[in-house]
Amino acid sequence: MSSYKIETKCIQSGYEPGNGEPRVLPIYQSTTFKYTSSEQMGRLFDLEESGYFYTRLQNPTNDAVAAKICDLEGGAAAMLTSSGQAANFYAIMNIAGAGDHIVCASALYGGTYNLYAHTIRKMGVEATFVDPDCTPEELDAAFQDNTKAVFGETIANPALVVLDIEKFANAAHTHGVPFIIDNTFATPINCRPFEWGADIVTHSTTKYMDGHATCVGGAIVDSGNFDWEAYADKFPGLTTPDETYHGIVYTQKFGKGAYITKATAQLMRDLGSIQSPQNAFLLNIGLETLHLRVPCHCENALTVAKYLKNHEKVAWVSCPSLPGDKYYDLAQKYMPNGTCGVLTFGLKGGRDAAVEMMDKLKMIAIVTHVADARSCVLHPASHTHRQMNDQELMEAGVQPDLIRFSVGIENVNDIIADVEQALL
Ligand SMILES: *Cc1c(COP(=O)(O)O)cnc(C)c1O
Repeated sequence: MSSYKIETKCIQSGYEPGNGEPRVLPIYQSTTFKYTSSEQMGRLFDLEESGYFYTRLQNPTNDAVAAKICDLEGGAAAMLTSSGQAANFYAIMNIAGAGDHIVCASALYGGTYNLYAHTIRKMGVEATFVDPDCTPEELDAAFQDNTKAVFGETIANPALVVLDIEKFANAAHTHGVPFIIDNTFATPINCRPFEWGADIVTHSTTKYMDGHATCVGGAIVDSGNFDWEAYADKFPGLTTPDETYHGIVYTQKFGKGAYITKATAQLMRDLGSIQSPQNAFLLNIGLETLHLRVPCHCENALTVAKYLKNHEKVAWVSCPSLPGDKYYDLAQKYMPNGTCGVLTFGLKGGRDAAVEMMDKLKMIAIVTHVADARSCVLHPASHTHRQMNDQELMEAGVQPDLIRFSVGIENVNDIIADVEQALL
């Protein structure tokens, strides 16, 4: 981890050119890398030596961007994935397999809910979903002997539940398992979960990190703090020999890099969800302004939230930075400088009024996306979360009338003017 402030890390971390080398991180648009000795190539395959040989495993552009995200989070090791979905899939499957169990906060991104409730269940990994606002005792009761991880989102998309990170981290550690947190919405600019006890952070870099809606991508960052050896019987994949690599024991050989090395060496090798170097290059350009964009998103969102709260046609507004919000106190504790640019609201006219209002917007577009420079809206019950029944929607914190509003970084008066004419 560098000692620079976070703004400097956004720009400088991850890539340091040597004398006469390109100032800007190059795109290593190459599937493969050349060697003059067959023996050296063999050592690379055995993980005996580090180096590049095939982009499915490692690529210099991707590694530089992963290193920047790692530094932003204050982690020990990181990897990029093709999407946020791939990141959350790998993060769990790297330490859980058929017969295992995970505990998840129920307020989750719709895709993550499907992944954990249905897809990994077919692979034999069961998830128990708990109310993020549950008591420590209720959280404790969700654990089983075969529990391998705890998962939650810093700020849930789209429920905007701010997670009590310490409560979840403490419960995970009491049961000898890591706490994995999806920090997509807060970004490391507003919250660094490792400082509150989380062990592993995931990201959909598609959102604020890219910031311009150009590339789908993901990342996994390991703090290096979880002591796998102390719970060796729970995590044999990390603490016993990997026969596919001539008996390497990841914790012994890679220390704080064990978890990410295993995820790269096994999951990326076999499942192949890599980010393209071209996308990593664009992601890196996005990261260079993350520290400027995120505060602007937050400020605009808070201004819009205050406007909506005073509007006669608006039934409710949810924005964790708005005084009086259910999650205001948790937001002040974990992310006092701001939460995110996404807010949600409902109209007194309910679901139909929501659809009508959205159709009247001129500048603000209806898109299945959040967290990029352009303001946009979405109706989760008819879009991202449409596979869920009403019960599942409520458990995920999504009211049927909820409009998700991703406030962009246009001039806030133009954003409000568009909303105002749509509400007439
Ligand atoms: C979008 C999102 C994901 C999924 O990421 P993709 O890059 O779309 O695969 C996961 N978690 C959160 C919180 C998200 O917002």
